[in-house]
Amino acid sequence: MSTQSMTPNSTRDGNDLKEPTPFYEALAKALKKRKINIETVCPPSDPVSRRILEEYGAIFVANKKVLPPPVCVFTTEEQVTKFQEDAGFESEFMGYDAVELQPEALKSLKEARKDAQKEGLDITPRDGAEAGRRNYEDSVRLWNSRFEPALDYWLSQGRLTQEQVTRLRGLPLSQQIAEVLELEKIGIYFSKDLSKSILYSIAAPGASQHIAMLAFDVNEFDNPRVREIMAKHGWFQTVLSDLPHFTYLGLKEKDLPKHGLRSLEINGQVFWIPNVPGVHPGLDK
Ligand SMILES: [Zn+2]
Repeated sequence: MSTQSMTPNSTRDGNDLKEPTPFYEALAKALKKRKINIETVCPPSDPVSRRILEEYGAIFVANKKVLPPPVCVFTTEEQVTKFQEDAGFESEFMGYDAVELQPEALKSLKEARKDAQKEGLDITPRDGAEAGRRNYEDSVRLWNSRFEPALDYWLSQGRLTQEQVTRLRGLPLSQQIAEVLELEKIGIYFSKDLSKSILYSIAAPGASQHIAMLAFDVNEFDNPRVREIMAKHGWFQTVLSDLPHFTYLGLKEKDLPKHGLRSLEINGQVFWIPNVPGVHPGLDK
C-alpha cells in the first residue's frame, strides 16, 4: 500500500505542491472569509463534533460558490430545511432518478457526466435519489439501519446486556452518537459489517454531507477513469472507506494540500481527508 504522507513538513518531490497546511489552520481561514466562528459551527472542544469535523469536515474548505452547513451536526428537520433553502438546490434526472444538489455542485457533476459519456463511460446515482440531497429524517433512518442491527448482534454475542441495549435505544441522538463512538473504542463496532466505525459506513444523524447537498454516491466509483473525471470537476473521495461517496469541493486537486487536506491512498483509491496529525493511526501506515 503506498501512501503519500503529507505531514506539515513534507512535500512531494518533483511537482509544484506548496507546503501543506494543517486542517485546523485552513479551516479557520476558510471560515473567517465567510465570517463564521468555528465554535458556533462545530466546537472542537466537544469530542463528538471534533470527530465529525475530522471525518467529514472537508466540505468546510470547499470553494466559495457553495454554502457549507452552519453547524456540523443538525438536530432538527426545520434547521435542515432552512439551510437547504438558504443554500438552494437544483435537480437533474439521471436515469430514473432526480438528483438534487447545490447548484454549483450539480453543474460540475453534469459536466463530469458529459465528459464520461464522451468516452463511452457514465456517472450514475447509486441507490436512486438518495445518492444526492437527503433530509434530516433520511439521515436518522440510515443511522438506525446500522445502529439497530449492531445492537442486536452485540447483544447476541454477550458484549452488551439487554439493559445496556434498552438504555442506548432510549438516549437522545446526540448522546447515542457519543456512546456509540465510546463503545467502538473497545471494539464494539457499528458499521454494516461490524468491523469498523459506523462513521465509515454511514454519517452520524444530522451530520451528512448529503444534507449539505455537496455529496453524490456514484455507481461507477470502481472505474479509475471515472474517478479521474470526477476529480477534474472538483469532486473527490473525502470519507475513508465510503467508496461510492464523492464530495464536491470545487477545488483543483493540486491545491488541496493548501486547503488543509491530505491524500491517503487505499487499494488504489485516493482519499482527501482533513490533515490532522494522529487521526486514523490504524489506516495511515
Ligand atoms: Zn454518500
